[in-house]
Amino acid sequence: MNLKVIAFDADDTLWVNEPYYRQTEEQFYNLLGGYSTQHELERELLKTEIGNLTFYGYGIKGFVLSMIETALRISNNTISAEVVGAILDLGKQMLNQPIELLDGVEDVLGTLKSKYRLVVATKGDLLDQERKLKKSGISHYFHHIEIMSEKDDANYLKLIRHLDIAPQELLMVGNSLKSDIMPVLNIGGNAVHVPYHITWAHEQIEHSIESEKFKSVVEIRELLGFL
Ligand SMILES: [Mg+2]
Repeated sequence: MNLKVIAFDADDTLWVNEPYYRQTEEQFYNLLGGYSTQHELERELLKTEIGNLTFYGYGIKGFVLSMIETALRISNNTISAEVVGAILDLGKQMLNQPIELLDGVEDVLGTLKSKYRLVVATKGDLLDQERKLKKSGISHYFHHIEIMSEKDDANYLKLIRHLDIAPQELLMVGNSLKSDIMPVLNIGGNAVHVPYHITWAHEQIEHSIESEKFKSVVEIRELLGFL
C-alpha cells in the first residue's frame, strides 16, 4: 500500500454515537406506549426516518422530526403538545451529550499523524458534527474535515480530488460497511472495517466483502500493526 491519506469515519468509529439513538428510541417508545406496541413503534419510526433522509439528511434534527411525525401518525394526530415538547427535549438531550472517545483512538491518531495526512470523513448534520469534533478534543490531529450529506461514490471521489491524491492512496477506516467501506472500494480506494457493537438497521448489509484492498479488524489499535 502506498498510502498518503487515512480518513476516519467519526460516529461509532472515533466516538460513541449509536447507543444515544437507542436510548432515545427507548424513551420515545415509553412516551408513546399508550398508542402502540414497541415492535410497531420501532418499525414505524425506522420507516419514517428512511423516508425522511432525502428531506432532512442524517443526524439528530432529522431524527427528532421523524419521531414527531411517527407520533402524530401512530396517534392519529391526537398526541398532546406535552408529548411534542417531550420529544423536542429528547433531541436536545442528545445534542448535549458529552463526547466519549472509543478505546485506542487517541493512541492511533497520535501515532499515525506523523506518517500520513489524517482526515475525518463523516456524514450528518453540519453544525452537530462540527460541535462534536470541537467537544472531542481531537480535531488537532486532522488535516481536513469532510462532512458529507451522503457517503456515496461521488462524494468520496470529490474528497480525493480535493485532497489531490489517487484513489489507491486513500485508506478509509469506519464502522459501516455500507457507508465507509463499499463506496471507497468502488472508487479504487482501500478500506478497513472496525465494527461497532450496534449498527443502525439502515446501515446494515447482508453480504460479505472480498477484496485485497479490504481488511476487517476487531479494534482500532490493530491499525498500528500494518500502517
Ligand atoms: Mg459511523
